[in-house]
Amino acid sequence: MGATIIDGKAFAAKVRAQVADHVARLKLEHGITPGLAVVLVGEDPASEVYVRSKGKQTVEVGMASFEHKLPALTTEAHLLALIARLNADPEVHGILVQLPLPSHLNSDLVINAIDPAKDVDGFHISNVGLLGTGQKSMVPCTPLGCLMMLRDHLGSLSGLNAVVVGRSNIVGKPMAQLLLGDSCTVTIAHSRTKDLAAVCRGADILVAAVGRPEMITGDYVKPGAVVIDVGINRIERDGKTKLVGDVEFASAAAVAGAITPVPGGVGPMTIACLLANTLTACCRAKGLAEPQGLTA
Ligand code: NDP
Repeated sequence: MGATIIDGKAFAAKVRAQVADHVARLKLEHGITPGLAVVLVGEDPASEVYVRSKGKQTVEVGMASFEHKLPALTTEAHLLALIARLNADPEVHGILVQLPLPSHLNSDLVINAIDPAKDVDGFHISNVGLLGTGQKSMVPCTPLGCLMMLRDHLGSLSGLNAVVVGRSNIVGKPMAQLLLGDSCTVTIAHSRTKDLAAVCRGADILVAAVGRPEMITGDYVKPGAVVIDVGINRIERDGKTKLVGDVEFASAAAVAGAITPVPGGVGPMTIACLLANTLTACCRAKGLAEPQGLTA
């Protein structure tokens, strides 16, 4: 195995330390505490774990955390009223509605009710449009984390061939926009792509966001490429539940120049970037300088 392992856990700790440092200065110099409100509807166990973890890390970096847990049968009107209150609350600089929502709620309608300036997930249609046109926006956390790791490892991304496997609105598409913004030549692949392995072998940067355990093997990787594995899949192996990515780590690492592991790669960066986005949103709202290196 020749690849450098990109340590997302260590990188995320560095990002959180940077955020905490900036938050401390905001408090000291301006008396401002950035605040993040997280809304959870229903009792999905995985979502509850995420929300708890987000709340804990928010407090650890010195921000205020506001958790709103609503029953699974909450009406759309009730949820929209809560979002309107959070939009108007000066102590709340970031709002995140945990997805997926129960099926009776219209996710697009709910997300687009969030004030775009407080939309720290970057899913509001205004932020999607701003990102697509290369303007200042709130950037979705997972792709932002991937971009930070790529910049840290490679320096300039300009002119590199990037292939993103997956075209979802939350990962694949914004990832491709960010890579384009850094002057990569970008291909977006998906389930209808012909000869995916050959397409991927053209990539200097290969981002896998597919949701299929270990689908991307070493045969898909160009020697020396940087492989970013966004996938989080729970599988049963040897009678145990195991977390694996969309990339088959051993065979890909034998060919790649650098690779993110699962767990410990992209995952920890996602919450770190949520905190970074909340800080950025707070600074923008107050007309203060944004933190360096924590935005796209
Ligand atoms: P989606 O299911 O929304 O999208 C998956 C994409 O992969 C689709 O565009 C689909 O293509 C494509 N795809 C599916 N099968 C194939 C195939 N055989 N060949 C090529 N492309 C294929 O997933 P998400 O984008 O939401 O998530 C992707 C992965 O990232 C998941 O494992 C998820 O758990 C993980 N994730 C991790 C996060 C983190 O914090 N690390 C955050 C968010 C997601 P098509 O459009 O044609 O159907």
